[in-house]
Amino acid sequence: MNRHMAAQPAQFMPNNRIINFNESKNIRQRNQTKKTAPKRKNKLKKNVIFLFIELIILISLGAQAFLILSKKSNVEIAAETKIPSWIDVQLIDQGNPSRSGVILEGINDIVIHYVGNPRTTAQQNRDFYNQQDSDVCSHFVVGMDGEIIMCVPLTEKSASSNDRNKDTISIEVCHPDVTGEFTDESYQSLIKLVNWLRATFNLSTDHVIRHYEVTGKECPMYYVKNPEKWDQFKADLKAAEEGKEVTSTYPKHASEDDINYGLDDSDDTEDDTEDYSAENSEDVDYSESNDYYADNAEYIEYSYETPVEEYEEIYY
Ligand SMILES: [Zn+2]
Repeated sequence: MNRHMAAQPAQFMPNNRIINFNESKNIRQRNQTKKTAPKRKNKLKKNVIFLFIELIILISLGAQAFLILSKKSNVEIAAETKIPSWIDVQLIDQGNPSRSGVILEGINDIVIHYVGNPRTTAQQNRDFYNQQDSDVCSHFVVGMDGEIIMCVPLTEKSASSNDRNKDTISIEVCHPDVTGEFTDESYQSLIKLVNWLRATFNLSTDHVIRHYEVTGKECPMYYVKNPEKWDQFKADLKAAEEGKEVTSTYPKHASEDDINYGLDDSDDTEDDTEDYSAENSEDVDYSESNDYYADNAEYIEYSYETPVEEYEEIYY
């Protein structure tokens, strides 16, 4: 009995141990199952959230791709743009060397020029472009009285900004003297025109450049020689956009006879202005008068009647 009693544990111990082991394993598994159930639920939740985020990312990427693909290019916008009535549309004849008819690759910048031909009018410059032996022209010419003539459709290349003709809109501005400074009338019209183009093609003022930025040429001369005036012009574009009134510092149509204009005491300014307009507003002959050029020998070589090759050499 003692032997049995002593032997029994020895016989059953292993089985007991197995049972105990299995039982404890089961218990552990049960306990584990109890513990992991909420974890699995959490994991499932996480997966659903990740899936949801991925779905949102996919949808937004798809929407962006759609917007990019369906967004109109500036050239497409140009094709649909109605030209406002304050712009005098006088397109260069089709087939004229000035108007290649080549469609722009894009509209990325607006390039400002000066005609380099003092006292010529916007009409004279436009007519110059339209000559059969001219192969230069800009999209717009702004005259000294603020008139704006459009010479080339917005979708087509102009011929004034060298290797940037392919993706820019060009504007030539007339000026009364050799400094190349724009009159206040030209300045106001230029701001109106540039801001209209900026709004149409969604371009910031960083996209308004001088011909100088393209080739290093002194064009528009006054705004290359006086960079602070160019900075002011850019600031004025923004100010005008915000509805603020802007004026240029140009003392109207100053003439050589009026060299003290603007240098007198401010008290006299009004009188000077009256004197100036009395003396000049009707007298100044912007036409092709030979007398004018005879009287202004220094301008003769810049006359719009200058042979095209020479003109191009000087200005383009
Ligand atoms: Zn230029």
